[in-house]
Amino acid sequence: LFVVFEGGEGAGKSTQVALLAEALRGEGRAVLVTREPGATDVGVRIRELVLDPAVADGPTGVVLGPRAEALLYAADRAHHVASLVRPALKRGDVVISDRYVDSSLAYQGAGRTLPVDEIAWLSDWATGGLTPDLVVLLDVEPVVGLARVDNRGGSADRLEAESLPFHERVRSGFLRRAATDPGRYLVIDATTAPEDIAAKVLARVRQLLPP
Ligand code: C5P
Repeated sequence: LFVVFEGGEGAGKSTQVALLAEALRGEGRAVLVTREPGATDVGVRIRELVLDPAVADGPTGVVLGPRAEALLYAADRAHHVASLVRPALKRGDVVISDRYVDSSLAYQGAGRTLPVDEIAWLSDWATGGLTPDLVVLLDVEPVVGLARVDNRGGSADRLEAESLPFHERVRSGFLRRAATDPGRYLVIDATTAPEDIAAKVLARVRQLLPP
């Protein structure tokens, strides 16, 4: 079973990934917790590059640009799927990933305004067509999510380099995707209590799990 958590900045994905993994492991299930970008050695290097403010903002003259950015995320994903996700699914593990294809559709597509169908094609090629069984979208207004990231002193500088309209486009991109396939998406208001969110997710995952 392949479960993906998606959402904008400060949506609480990492908390929910950890809670779901803990609950499933508590039932004796084998779980692989993973993330994009940066789950493999190669991926860590791609993550450093693609999230380096010097590269993204270009004060040194290096401006990555949206197409190169999209290809780097796709390269990370191709390596991630081939080296970690597919082998784990083959073993019968539950795979829980913090971000996957929908992040690219939302950030590189809706956010950077690259054609979403092209990003979908690129993602499909990178993954060999591997689709999650369930995508949990933790939905939060960007002003609220970004304030949460600020409070925990995270990567606020890099995020503030992006405008609020960028993050609004990303959010709409996620919601649009979710609306196309309600059976495969679980959209949850990320401002509700973490334990309530975790309970909803677990209930849905249980319906999909083999006994
Ligand atoms: O979820 P995490 O904090 O690890 O994501 C790091 C950053 O990578 C996010 O803030 C987001 O801006 C960026 N990202 C992106 N496109 C993706 C995946 C992540 O722009 N496909």
